[in-house]
Amino acid sequence: MTGKDFYRQAKWSEPLIFELSSEGRVGYRLPDLDESIEREIGDYRKIIPSNMIRDNPPSLPEVSEVTVIRHFTRLSQMNWGVDSGIYPLGSCTMKYNPRVNEILTSMMELTNLHPYQPVETVQGILEILYKLQKWLAEITGTAAVSLQPAAGAHGEFLGVLLMRAYHKYNGELDKRREMIIPDSAHGTNPASARMGGFDVVVVPSDENGLVDMEALKSSVSEKTAGLMLTNPNTLGLFEKNIVEIARIIHEAGALLYYDGANLNPILGKVRPGDMGFDIVHINTHKTFSTPHGGGGPGAGPVAVCERLAEFLPVPIVDYDGSKYYLNYNLPHSIGKIKGFYGNISVLVRAYCYILSMGFDGLKEAAELSVLNANYIKARLEKLRGLSLKYAPQTPRKHEVVFSASPLLKETGVAALDIAKNLLDSGVHAPTNYFPLIVSEALMIEPTETEPKEELDKFVEGLKRILDEAYSNPEAVKKAPLKTSVTRLDEVKAAHPQTMALTYRMFLKSAGVKRDV
Ligand SMILES: *Cc1c(COP(=O)(O)O)cnc(C)c1O
Repeated sequence: MTGKDFYRQAKWSEPLIFELSSEGRVGYRLPDLDESIEREIGDYRKIIPSNMIRDNPPSLPEVSEVTVIRHFTRLSQMNWGVDSGIYPLGSCTMKYNPRVNEILTSMMELTNLHPYQPVETVQGILEILYKLQKWLAEITGTAAVSLQPAAGAHGEFLGVLLMRAYHKYNGELDKRREMIIPDSAHGTNPASARMGGFDVVVVPSDENGLVDMEALKSSVSEKTAGLMLTNPNTLGLFEKNIVEIARIIHEAGALLYYDGANLNPILGKVRPGDMGFDIVHINTHKTFSTPHGGGGPGAGPVAVCERLAEFLPVPIVDYDGSKYYLNYNLPHSIGKIKGFYGNISVLVRAYCYILSMGFDGLKEAAELSVLNANYIKARLEKLRGLSLKYAPQTPRKHEVVFSASPLLKETGVAALDIAKNLLDSGVHAPTNYFPLIVSEALMIEPTETEPKEELDKFVEGLKRILDEAYSNPEAVKKAPLKTSVTRLDEVKAAHPQTMALTYRMFLKSAGVKRDV
């Protein structure tokens, strides 16, 4: 079943967990702490530093187990996730997260580890991390990997710091102040470059949606620190001049950075290192199927070519032929950018994913992600109201960006209205209004984990909306109607003064004075 009658989201009037609290109620039953154990550890007040002991316990909700489970189950029913259905958010790669990786990662042998344990007692996890470093180096065609960064943007920041360290080492940092970034780039690229202390120079895209080579040549100079490039770019197009681009950048003494948030379409096909890139960041939560989470913790490993290896953060996990160890001996290391070795539980999921897929499996995932994107392209390109701004004849890689500009002009219905309306079909909206170079952008990335039926459901949903936009545009603008939360005030929803992300913020916005 597809279309309008397929979907209706749960709509609970769910109170906050704090409002469900009742004094003295607990969610567990455990035997009293055995006196002998207490005798063994002694009085905890003597172990914990006195300035860290609270007089009053924190004000936490007091609820039974069944209350907690029902509360969060109901909240989950008012949400949409990749476990509910297709989630074709371009650039974000919302592929399915296989459960076997979750099961393996929650094994007690892993969850009970402590980062301060002596290395002899953690050889197993070090082996996992070591192999993951090796595999990521192999997949990207690079020499060395740091697993420390906690997200893609954090990896970018590390990459930019590595560029700094490299130019400083060569005595050129004072003159190399500029980072070149194409106008199709993800917003985190210029942000990371800026945070790393560089000035951003934007190069435009040409009429085919690729880096404009003449503009690039005239932007590169002895002031250039590096170029940050996404390939395939955010339009889903492969930068076919990459070898020439690498030559131009390297001849100018600058470094080439690869935004590898989306390695999906190139896995086992081409490698950034072979294309000439010096630094690569990888989003495990996109390509390697680890959960995106609510903003973290994540992992954004960074891979580098040989000449940058000694600048990486410490420690790197190494192997001396008989045992694994933490290598702090990197002469020009930029230091640390995250505690310990990174977010282990996320990295282990990525390890499990790569291990279970194998080289052939990864390659097949890449092929199917491209096939799915081109199936969507083929089915949508004939629809009235949508257009492809760049290279309409060129096959896409993992994603395709349509413009709803014709529809807006003809009916007054915008990309945002389409996105909101799709939710009523039991389909998550694609990314919209990004990349910035496509007006009324709908950026669609189906991923390889969607079967044809789900792709068809997406296409049918979109078709229905376009038809309705021409017959009854006002109705389209009212959506969504079948979701637990209907159309939001876009400004209020994103405004720091009206957002209540914590209970404390909620109480403040409601004018309640209470210490929590
Ligand atoms: C998602 C993404 C990033 C940023 O990654 P985060 O993990 O969200 O910080 C950077 N570049 C591209 C192309 C992306 O799609």
